[in-house]
Amino acid sequence: KTARLVPIKTLEGFDFSFQPSIDRERVAALAQLDFIRRAEVVHFLGPPGTGKSHLATALGVAAVKAGRSVYRATLAELVEALSKAEQEGRLSEKIRFYARASLLIVDEIGYLPITQGGANLFFQLVNARYEKGAMILTSNRGFAEWGEVFGDPVVATALLDRLLHHAVVLQIEGASYRLRGHADLIPEY
Ligand code: ADP
Repeated sequence: KTARLVPIKTLEGFDFSFQPSIDRERVAALAQLDFIRRAEVVHFLGPPGTGKSHLATALGVAAVKAGRSVYRATLAELVEALSKAEQEGRLSEKIRFYARASLLIVDEIGYLPITQGGANLFFQLVNARYEKGAMILTSNRGFAEWGEVFGDPVVATALLDRLLHHAVVLQIEGASYRLRGHADLIPEY
């Protein structure tokens, strides 16, 4: 298997001047990691390419440096792993595994629709971590659209009930960093 070289995302490597809608002080406060001790949920919301994954990963890197256990996956990866575990009769073991990390980062909520069964599995995981372990979630969709994302408005409401109870929401409004320098190619710019 060939090695994949992924550049490490850090807060130092983030250009806050490119994304003025992000409150740098709030991100710096999160990097103190008290949100992990308090088992809070941090939401990064905003359009693609605005740095949500970068900031989530950078906080994860800070947490690892501080000796905390961190697990990161996309929502689609989590749901796939949970449903595989369910088929193999290992669901509670798998949920315990994900519940154990001090910080669970769930990336890319909203890109791929989740089936009702998948939403139920994710709900069980969120419930297992609720008020016990911190999470960072990134999404390109507003909370009002979660019914659509999770294919079930009832489960979406129950998810949001827990995920917004002890929560910090950072809404990013701005241009994609990936497309910087190509403003002429994008009509909405
Ligand atoms: P999102 O999760 O919002 O879709 P990413 O965090 O994946 O966006 O950002 C896309 C790419 O652009 C990544 O390689 C990321 O490191 C980089 N990037 C985004 N915003 C910034 C920024 N303000 N400063 C430096 N790099 C950035």
